[in-house]
Amino acid sequence: MQSIILVMKIPKKQYIFICLLTLLSTLFFTCRKPQPAQQERLSPDTEKQTTLKEADLEPLPDGFCLLTDSIPDAILEIRYYSDNNFVGTCIDGYEEPVALITQKAASALRKASDEFHKKGYRIKIYDAYRPQRAVDHFVQWSKDPADTAMKSVFYPHIQKTTIFSRGYVARKSKHSRGSTVDMTLVDLKTGKEVDMGGSFDYFGDISRTKSESITAEQRQNRLLLRNIMVANGFYSVQGEWWHFTLCNEPYPNTYFDFPVKRYL
Ligand SMILES: [Zn+2]
Repeated sequence: MQSIILVMKIPKKQYIFICLLTLLSTLFFTCRKPQPAQQERLSPDTEKQTTLKEADLEPLPDGFCLLTDSIPDAILEIRYYSDNNFVGTCIDGYEEPVALITQKAASALRKASDEFHKKGYRIKIYDAYRPQRAVDHFVQWSKDPADTAMKSVFYPHIQKTTIFSRGYVARKSKHSRGSTVDMTLVDLKTGKEVDMGGSFDYFGDISRTKSESITAEQRQNRLLLRNIMVANGFYSVQGEWWHFTLCNEPYPNTYFDFPVKRYL
């Protein structure tokens, strides 16, 4: 009754106008085609490409993971994927600039990374798992005495022929066992690398953790890196401040050779 009374109170012209408006609105909403849901719909071509790309990925070898899956904020500077290394070219077996590591080492490294965070740092990785074919590349390179392209940067004071006998490069590397990392620290506030008083892969006395050729502050920085890594289950070597191996590594006698790249 109320609605009839309401209709009765509206003047005839306005009543016709309202009716027309209602009719037009109904027609508009009825004829409108249903829109697809608001989600990204891949074109058939893109879907095909994605499927093919995923199909190309091989399964990751058992017990390994991508280091950044475990520590997403780790900075990667995979030197052997670049020409900024002692050989001067991308090294065999480095197909993508990623870091692979055993899950066990990743878990320990994650704990160390958390500690570094509390102290105002994040980790930067130069190398982790290294395939045997990369080490073989180093050996081949060492047999060419004429190739000294990177001598002035990485080994200015030693003869290339003594690189193996001095232990700077080995024919079998702990890195190939998957639980060794080469790393440094980056200041969370400034984004700059912490001053370690020497650079990664420099073949010389200054790379010894307790070298006398660095300042007290630089030595402190190296010790900060070493002490937290050691507290979280890694051991260091005297000759390379950046190098750490998990004490209870899961594959102590296996030297893997699968390439460094992304896997499923
Ligand atoms: Zn190393």
